[in-house]
Amino acid sequence: MKNTEIKLKQHEVLPTRKQIDGLRNWIMLFPSPEEIDGIPYADSLLNRRSQLGRKKSDSDPLKFDLANTKASHVVYACIDVSISSFALLTLARKMVTAQQSQKAESVGIVVKGFEIKLAERIVEAIIAAAGANAAGMPNYKSEKQSKTVLQQLNIYGLRVRHGYKRTLAEAEGNALARYLSMLPPNELTPANYTKRIRKLASANKWKMEFYDNNALQKKKAGAFLAVAQASPDKDAGIVRLMYTPKTYTSKGKVILVGKGICYDTGGTNLKPAKHMFGMHEDMQGSSVALGTFLALTKMQVNFRLECWLALAINHIGPKAYKPNDIITAADGTTIEIVHTDAEGRMVLADTLTLASQQKPKLIIDYATLTGACVYSLGSSYSGVFTNREEFHPALIQAGKDSGERVWPFPLDEDYEKGLESDIADVKQCAVEGDADHILAARFLQRFVKNDTPWVHVDLAASNHKGGLAHVPTDTTGFGVRYTLNLLLDKKLP
Ligand SMILES: [Zn+2]
Repeated sequence: MKNTEIKLKQHEVLPTRKQIDGLRNWIMLFPSPEEIDGIPYADSLLNRRSQLGRKKSDSDPLKFDLANTKASHVVYACIDVSISSFALLTLARKMVTAQQSQKAESVGIVVKGFEIKLAERIVEAIIAAAGANAAGMPNYKSEKQSKTVLQQLNIYGLRVRHGYKRTLAEAEGNALARYLSMLPPNELTPANYTKRIRKLASANKWKMEFYDNNALQKKKAGAFLAVAQASPDKDAGIVRLMYTPKTYTSKGKVILVGKGICYDTGGTNLKPAKHMFGMHEDMQGSSVALGTFLALTKMQVNFRLECWLALAINHIGPKAYKPNDIITAADGTTIEIVHTDAEGRMVLADTLTLASQQKPKLIIDYATLTGACVYSLGSSYSGVFTNREEFHPALIQAGKDSGERVWPFPLDEDYEKGLESDIADVKQCAVEGDADHILAARFLQRFVKNDTPWVHVDLAASNHKGGLAHVPTDTTGFGVRYTLNLLLDKKLP
């Protein structure tokens, strides 16, 4: 995977006419048409607006070519100062895409008339969108089209010290999550995935352990192994990555957990064609956990961090686990198998047990877990669940602020009835599933040991036609920006 690093040049002042003439591509944002006044070529931009009958704010950017020698292509908008992060990122995506179609390598950005905090948010959104757009994604076409990649942003009207390091780290993490998710399943097998992670680990100086088939048998991780047992290649396993900062004050560590089903056929309960197509992305929980881990370690956060990834294929075959099987998980819980397509909660059960034995101060898991969550929310939001109801306001607010929006679901005790089994400790899922996303979370909760604070993200927004917020591809890599906001701004727990 090739990642171009976007260079940023910041100028506190507005561009001169000469500077505008010197660059072919511009993105400009103003709080109102009056603020356009005072920049070079203001008359043309204002004229264009009034021709189009624009009044106050633009949710779709305007485009205009200036009458200079380069015919500079200006994409501009007037936005409401109360704009949400999601709307801002969406607008930023449209503006960046418009410049990308012009094959822009270097883009000028002008922000004028906003108070500093908002100006910073706006520039941040454009950098996020530019980073998402510039990232290379898997492409197997024999005829390679040369894509011009955006390499430089020249920011006018605002200069900040931090250099948007976090936004760039998030863009890198998100690009990694999407890239891995888009790889075809005959390439990204658990073995190939593990190899790629090993490379990343040595490049970034992470410690890495891998619990393979034998190690998991020793740990009696029957829930994980039930899913893996149909695979002819014994390459499934649990990856553990560790990051320790040079100095840290906080005692506890944070553990990120991800579901990494490299292909989900449904198993014995085979999926129909319509639902199987796209199931190579059933590992996106793991790639989001990994991308988040990458972004946080690039930021050199001052707390200890681990990342646990459950990598397997949910295969068909004579050895595949089947409904009515009774499986014993690593913590001794007996599970009555009901539907083999509910494999995500099986591999996560043992991974959560092992991760929570580390006594972290917080576990966050990510999984493309249930269709029920998508039925409930569509694919614009993801669902969140937690065993700490007091987290709800922070969980929601992190979604609003990051632009990767989530909504919490209940986890009350009485839902447990849906998982009561006549023959084992618990049912894997209900035969006829109402609220399967809630039952799945209830099921997972029992494997989170020592009452560890836990957040479960059911990634309904992992794939959204046409892209979502700042991300231009259908595969969204949703969760990286969200988690950094949750851990670094909301300071959960
Ligand atoms: Zn499944």
